[in-house]
Amino acid sequence: MKQLEELKGIGPKGLRILNKLEIHNIKDLVEYYPFRYDILKETDLSHVEDMNKVIVSGVVESIPSIFHINRKLDKMDFKMNAQNHLLRVTIFNRGFLKSQMPIGKEITVIGKYDQLHNHIVASELRMGRLMQETIEPVYHTIYGITSKQLSHYITLALKEQVNLEDYIPLPYQEKYHFFSKEKSIQIVHHPTILSDLEVAKNRIKYEELFLFMLKMNFLKNNKQNKIGLKRTIRFEKIEEFIKMLPYSLTIDQQECVVSIYNDLISPKRMNRLLQGDVGSGKTVVALIASYMNYLSGYQSALMAPTEILAEQHYQNATMLCEKTGMRIGLLTGKMKAKEKKEVYNALKEGKIDLIIGTHALFTNAVEYANLGLVITDEQHRFGVNQRSSLKNKGITPDILYMSATPIPRTYALTLYGDMDISSIKTVPNGRKPVITTVASSKQMTQVLEKMYEQLKEHHQIYVIAPLIEESDKSDFENVYQLEEKMQKAFGKVCQIGVLHGKMKPAEKELVMDQFSKNEIQILISTTVVEVGVDVPNATMMVIFDSYRFGLSALHQLRGRVGRSDLQSYCVLISDHETERLQILTKTNDGFKISEEDFLLRGSGDLFGERQSGDMVFHMANLKNDFSILLKAKQDSEEFLRTYDEKDSISKKLMILLETSMDLD
Ligand code: ADP
Ligand code: MG
Repeated sequence: MKQLEELKGIGPKGLRILNKLEIHNIKDLVEYYPFRYDILKETDLSHVEDMNKVIVSGVVESIPSIFHINRKLDKMDFKMNAQNHLLRVTIFNRGFLKSQMPIGKEITVIGKYDQLHNHIVASELRMGRLMQETIEPVYHTIYGITSKQLSHYITLALKEQVNLEDYIPLPYQEKYHFFSKEKSIQIVHHPTILSDLEVAKNRIKYEELFLFMLKMNFLKNNKQNKIGLKRTIRFEKIEEFIKMLPYSLTIDQQECVVSIYNDLISPKRMNRLLQGDVGSGKTVVALIASYMNYLSGYQSALMAPTEILAEQHYQNATMLCEKTGMRIGLLTGKMKAKEKKEVYNALKEGKIDLIIGTHALFTNAVEYANLGLVITDEQHRFGVNQRSSLKNKGITPDILYMSATPIPRTYALTLYGDMDISSIKTVPNGRKPVITTVASSKQMTQVLEKMYEQLKEHHQIYVIAPLIEESDKSDFENVYQLEEKMQKAFGKVCQIGVLHGKMKPAEKELVMDQFSKNEIQILISTTVVEVGVDVPNATMMVIFDSYRFGLSALHQLRGRVGRSDLQSYCVLISDHETERLQILTKTNDGFKISEEDFLLRGSGDLFGERQSGDMVFHMANLKNDFSILLKAKQDSEEFLRTYDEKDSISKKLMILLETSMDLD
């Protein structure tokens, strides 16, 4: 396959923009699909309302005259004959086309029609007549590239040899009368007939969803047996533990506890998703579950997506379980080899009852004496691949997933099939919803004043930037630049700290520790603070370039404040897309927000921006393409039961599934 830069017509600037769009090779380019299509059809001028948009083809009737308004703006006027109307046409900044427009030349104009004066102010002028019905792909464009330019690049790429693997097994290609993958991709970019376009789109969506469901089902089938562990647990012991907590559980938390208890004592293996908005109090439920598991004589593992979060859970658990006799350990990737070794030994010998850590918990070196329960926090951040690593350990513990990104129930059931779902719908009493506002960068002074107010109250503040350091790729705010600004504004009145993903683990830990002890009052950070971190005295969060994030991601971030009975504030700074952001000012309900995200940006974002590639579809959308998803689900199940080794596509799929499971 050729490199992008080898395509004649893509210059260094174009290449840079493509890279920013995550397009790095020809395959990426041809898989950058239009997000909608415009259908251009000639307007019948005798049936059009005044000042409506029209599309008309006709011939030039007068030599265009050009008027230069200033250096950057010209205006061109000419007459055209269309549908036996003599129309006057005005268009701006197309003076360069004059030489191509002799009298009698066939052209098409698109614009606003002023009936009384028979005048069109055109926004587009094209050479030639319009075909009967022209379908025009429209590409999502950012970074200053136009849809036309993208279309041009894609056309170049389509002329090249692209290695497009076909992943739909033949029986299903035949069943749905799909075109080949290559043809489908051609059609999607250069459609001529609407019905063909529909088939081509469906084929591409189906393939994406089929592969996704195949992975899911493959995993599900591999969950060795569905038989759980035998246990007896005395409920009174659990009640005692709950009484010891510094607060009483909310009703939803209590219900989750009961469901988990019933799962654990039943002979069936637990496979439960615990979903609850940020701050709803999932952690304590997880600890209670671990305690139940401990009471029945098994080890628990609690897996967190980041080291910071693992450490925080560890501290939390040590505190809350102090009097229970449960022995709690911590295992993260950054620990010294010797420390790790000690933990490995303790786990193997059954000297740790609850181990908390990152995915270091499931590396090959780790052996458990009798693992009975696995809890993964923020489960949507772990890819299918990581989840599958358990199966290689030959153990069948009960499983509890926790997630703050609520997945609408129908989708959850489809995607995870046999999983049970518990929800914590209410946040603990006494919490006030975070007051959220959207501000433009021009309103910085007010934002700083608001920050100052919070500091005077001895409260703490998070300041979030999309980038760590300056980048030539974009002009988003970055952590270091903001640190300078904040030092200028508040350096005299408080301590300012910086946190980001490129720092060494020890540095990160130190800063987080200082922040939680209130030795730092303003923490400037990237989204590494996004998950789970709990500093109740932090009452304000300012997020720069907030349009850069999905709504759900912003909601997660915002969940870092509003963690006590103090009133908290969140300021979303943005000079773009402020309308979308307004949703966050209106609701604190993560479920609603994720639905909005779903509607606005499709499924990709539902699961957060930086999460694993499992859910990234180029064309399919879990919501709009639900019926295709259902077919893909059925077909993939059938495929796994009946596939034919002799079919080369089937064989390829099975090998991929059994080895890396990365189908790319
Ligand atoms: P999340 O669901 O986002 O993981 P956490 O488990 O971190 O939420 O809980 C958020 C905060 O709420 C923590 O400080 C925790 O101690 C507190 N909390 C949890 N349950 C209750 C409760 N029933 N009453 C009061 N505070 C609670
Ligand atoms: Mg949490």
